Amino acid sequence: MNKSVKMIAIATIIVIALIIIVGVIKKSNFNSKNEKIKIVTTTFSTYDFAKQIVGENAEVTLLLNPGTDTHSYDPSTSDIIKIQKADVFIYIGGEMEKWVNKVLDSNVIDENKTLLIKVSDCVERIEEKDVDGAEPEEEHEEEQHHEEGAFDEHIWTSPKNAIKMVEYISNQIINIDETNKEIYNKNSLEYIEKIQEVQSKIKEIVDNKKRDRLVFGDKMPMQYFLEEYGLTASAAFNGCSTETEPSAKTVTYLINKVKEENIPVVLYIELSTGKTAKSIAQETGAKIMQIQTLHNVSKEDFENNETYVSLMTRNLEVLKQALQ
Ligand SMILES: [Zn+2]
Repeated sequence: MNKSVKMIAIATIIVIALIIIVGVIKKSNFNSKNEKIKIVTTTFSTYDFAKQIVGENAEVTLLLNPGTDTHSYDPSTSDIIKIQKADVFIYIGGEMEKWVNKVLDSNVIDENKTLLIKVSDCVERIEEKDVDGAEPEEEHEEEQHHEEGAFDEHIWTSPKNAIKMVEYISNQIINIDETNKEIYNKNSLEYIEKIQEVQSKIKEIVDNKKRDRLVFGDKMPMQYFLEEYGLTASAAFNGCSTETEPSAKTVTYLINKVKEENIPVVLYIELSTGKTAKSIAQETGAKIMQIQTLHNVSKEDFENNETYVSLMTRNLEVLKQALQ
């Protein structure tokens, strides 16, 4: 082989190699480093679902610190950097997460590198409603009128939705991390089975109920749950209220409701002081119990690796007593 033929052969090999390399990079834009993919989530339920699906095969981060309020969360610069570096960003996409739209609108997230999963796309959304007993939201927040058709974002409170969410998140993650497809499919099916188990245990309790009404001396973010099981609720505040003091009218209304219907349990939600529930209970002789609505979890629950399923299981005894 003479020198120039050799040169051409080497050049050709280099060109072919380059084409292959470019092709590989283009194909795996989302996961080019062959490392564990990074998943960032905004709420506890999606954090848990993602963790259950990927197991040890990906890194899952919850932006919120345990014990903090989902509704008053605002991302720090380091949180935004976490989203930028993520291969997958999972968010609910409701009013509570208005900040997500702001971040996405500012074009700081490269959608070719970070897969965005808006989970509320996979469920049937319910419109936000005022809860029986609570003051209508508008009376308090004159400047902050809810957008027309704003949906209730607490989609995860219904196990039926939780199952859809696991399926949806799993399928989307598989799209960018196909090497682990079988593991992810297996894990998500196993987790769905666990959700179905607790779903049917709730159904059993509801089938034996003595009443339809749950009374919350607190916010009531469980509309999807109530709808799935055909229950109703009265509450001190609406689902996403930022209020902490209910009006005297609301408190009187709830006290009368508890007395009239012999309601045995007044509920308060996680990370709440239970102050209003306590005062209603004192006036009526009802018991107070905490129900998990899974916005976020306490530090203790986080450290104990509680899950959607374990927290829903904790709700079983609460529901049993409240519906008796
Ligand atoms: Zn909420």
